[in-house]
Amino acid sequence: MNLLDLPASQWPDKFQELGEASYRGRQTAHWVFRKGITDPRAMTNLPPSTRALLEEERRLGIPSLESAHTSVDGTRKLALRLADGPVIESVLIPRKGRMTLCLSTQAGCGIGCRFCRTAAMGLIRNLSPSEILGQWIQAMRLLGFPTDRAKEGLSIDHVVFMGMGEPLANLDALIPAIRSLTHPDGIGLSPRRITVSTSGLVPKMRLLGEANLGIQLAVSLCAPDDLLRREIMPVGRIYSIAEILEACREFPLRNRERVTFEYVLLKGKNDRPEQARSLGRLLAPFRSKVNLIPFNPFPGSPFERPEEEVVQVFADILSGFHITATVRKSMGPDVLAACGQLARERVASAGAEY
Ligand code: SAH
Ligand code: SF4
Repeated sequence: MNLLDLPASQWPDKFQELGEASYRGRQTAHWVFRKGITDPRAMTNLPPSTRALLEEERRLGIPSLESAHTSVDGTRKLALRLADGPVIESVLIPRKGRMTLCLSTQAGCGIGCRFCRTAAMGLIRNLSPSEILGQWIQAMRLLGFPTDRAKEGLSIDHVVFMGMGEPLANLDALIPAIRSLTHPDGIGLSPRRITVSTSGLVPKMRLLGEANLGIQLAVSLCAPDDLLRREIMPVGRIYSIAEILEACREFPLRNRERVTFEYVLLKGKNDRPEQARSLGRLLAPFRSKVNLIPFNPFPGSPFERPEEEVVQVFADILSGFHITATVRKSMGPDVLAACGQLARERVASAGAEY
C-alpha cells in the first residue's frame, strides 16, 4: 500500500490503522509535500520504528527521474520511469510569470486521436495517484522545491492534466490525486488553478462534476460537426458533440468561470472559415472560451500545421461570435514537449536487450 495513493487528508487515520500516532501522518505529509523528501531515512523527526514502517513495501515510492530536457524557450520535459518499466512524461512550462506543470494520467492512451503522438503508443496502463503526484514531486525537486509561495512563477502555481493519457479514463486515480493537490495537508494548490482536459467521455464528465472538486474543465472538441470529429477522434462515434455540450452545461463552475474548448487546428482539415463559423454558431449560446492549438507535428504525423494568418482568421471569426478565442503558443517543440508530442517507445528499457 503506497501512502501517496490516499488523499493527504487520510494519512493521519492511515497511520493510526498502522499502529502509529496519527500526527505522524501529518509530519510525514510535511516531508513529502513541503520538502520533496520521500526517503523515510531522511525524516529526522520520526522515530526509527515509523521510518522502518514507511520503508517497508516502498510506502512512499514514486517514479524515478530518467531524464530532463530543457527547450530553448525554458520549457522542461521530464521523463519518469515507473517501477514496472514504462516511461511517462511531464512538462514544466514557465510563462508570463506562471509556472505550469502538465501531468500525465496514463502510460500511453487508448483514445486514438489521429493528430496525437501519444495515441500511437496505445494504452499501456493507468497511473496510480502516487505516480501522478510523483510527477509533481520530481518536477518540484528540479525547481529546487521553492516554498516561497508569494513569488509567483518560481514554484508550480498551475497544474493541467494535459500530458499523456485521457484523465477521465482513470478517474479512480485522478480524484484522489486532485484531493492531495488541493488539501492544505497536501500540496495546497487552489482548485481553480487545476485544469482537467478530456476528449469528451460524457458519463465520466458527469462523475467528475459530482465529485465537486472546484477545478476547471477543458474539452478537446477539435471539430465543429460530428462527421469530421469521428474521423479525427474515434471517440466521437461514442459521444456526440450535443451530448458533450450538455455535460459541459451541467458541470459545476463558479460564477464567471467557463469551460474551455480546445481545438487543434489541422491544415486543410478543420481550419476553414466556414468551419470557424459553424463552431461559432455551436458555441455562441454557451458560456465558453476556445483555445486554438495549431497542430504540432511529430515524426510520421499525417497532418500539417496551418499558416499563422489562417489561425488568426479562425480566431477572429470566433471573436465575432463573442467567444473568447486564444491561440496556444507551442512550448518546447524542439524537445517534443508541446501538446500532442508526448510519447515513449513501449520498451524504453531496451538497454537490457543489448
Ligand atoms: N487526453 C486529453 C488531455 C491530453 S491532450 C485530451 O485529449 O483532452 C492535451 C491537448 O493536446 C488536447 O486538447 C489535444 O487535442 C491536444 N493535442 C493532441 N495532439 C496534438 C498535436 N499534435 N498538436 C497540437 N495539439 C494536440
Ligand atoms: Fe489521448 Fe488526448 Fe492524445 Fe486523444 S489527444 S489520443 S485523448 S492524449
